[in-house]
Amino acid sequence: MNWLISHGTVLVAQPSPDPRAPVTWQTLPDHHVLVRDNQIEAVTPTLSSNWQPDETLDATGCFVLPGLINTHHHLFQSISRCLPAVQNASLFAWLTGLYPGWRAVDFQALKIAAQVSLAELMLSGCTTTNDMMYLFPRGSDVRLEAVLEAADELGIRIHAGRGSMAIGQRHGSLAPDELTEEEPVILRDAERVLRRFHNRARLAMQRVDLMPCAPFSISRELFRDTLQLARAYGALCHTHVAETLDEERYCRNRFGLRPLDYVMSAGWHGPDVSLAHCVHVNTDEIHQLATTHTAVAHCPSSNMILGSGIPPVVEMLRAGVTVGLGVDGSASNHGGHLLAEARQALLLQRVRYGAGSFTAQDAITLATVGGARLLNRADELGNLAPGYAADVAIFDLGTIEFAGAAVHDPLAALVMCHAPRVRDVFVNGRLVVRNGQLTRVDERALAARLNETVRRLYR
Ligand SMILES: [Zn+2]
Repeated sequence: MNWLISHGTVLVAQPSPDPRAPVTWQTLPDHHVLVRDNQIEAVTPTLSSNWQPDETLDATGCFVLPGLINTHHHLFQSISRCLPAVQNASLFAWLTGLYPGWRAVDFQALKIAAQVSLAELMLSGCTTTNDMMYLFPRGSDVRLEAVLEAADELGIRIHAGRGSMAIGQRHGSLAPDELTEEEPVILRDAERVLRRFHNRARLAMQRVDLMPCAPFSISRELFRDTLQLARAYGALCHTHVAETLDEERYCRNRFGLRPLDYVMSAGWHGPDVSLAHCVHVNTDEIHQLATTHTAVAHCPSSNMILGSGIPPVVEMLRAGVTVGLGVDGSASNHGGHLLAEARQALLLQRVRYGAGSFTAQDAITLATVGGARLLNRADELGNLAPGYAADVAIFDLGTIEFAGAAVHDPLAALVMCHAPRVRDVFVNGRLVVRNGQLTRVDERALAARLNETVRRLYR
């Protein structure tokens, strides 16, 4: 099906011969975006009579930009938002407070929670998301399929992560043993989902990546074996690293290494590896990330809510590190608005480095091209250019939130004003949000189902 998205103000990234170079954005007033099936055909100021769309979406007065890319999440965590017992806890206390409530999670609860998290992302202009799903309670029917089904039903592109926790309280770590799995079980199931669901084709809607939880929940051997397995299937690897000083102390005491050294000593570096957080990394470590082309998923709200610290993103970008943006799980962020997260990134870096250090353009780069680079998909996602995926977010510039601002600079308005709900979203050429409403599910019914599930899990 062919679409004409007409008369919008369209944001495009200028191509650069250096795939790691800073991105230059161009705002094109009164342009049309032509979509042929699942790809962008053209971005043009004029329409040729040869172009016959099946449908037209009028984007007059709207900002049309590449769909946003979320590079770190735990979709299941919408079951644990704003729990009074851990609202004010730091990471380790927060995790140990959450684990008991996670024991009763089953396939259905996981699927509803994932749908809610995905819906929230999509309504903020997100078209591709990562998900690290590491919760596989012993004896439950939980499988990665719940996440894949949720994404398929809502129509969002996903990198579904088969996560894992193998070291529990019995071995001096944090998680109750019932929430951990034996290492051979983890690897067997990881290979099963890779074989069955990992689609390496260009513009694939569904990929499976391997995402062990963290240095404090996985052995070095499992890190190594996981990497080997992912590489055998052309999948990516992702984990949490250097999130808190507690984690740094744990790694120093247990392994005699800093967290980044620990995962790198298991071979975890390279363009197919990305690390969430990297709050506590020093100059040498930033250099290591850059020279090994290891990417970082920056999650500002989560770092602020858990009091983890301010990651040196400005220094990472100066050093040439690939950085994407993530909302992180809804339990540590309590929300999943990716455009609002771009604003948080800007605010947090300015707290550390000053007002001129991080611009609205930098924030949009993190949320689009940065994410596409992290996912090794910079030639198919993160821009509106011929041959790219027809993943498009459309924001109405006539809302009260943008009044007075978009006149000067729509991109800055998008990031620096209070982020509203998106108007329309295309993923892979399909209209999945129209006039601020999901087209495939009833939003209020979905919210009610999650409320019911949360009451059951925490009664
Ligand atoms: Zn996380």
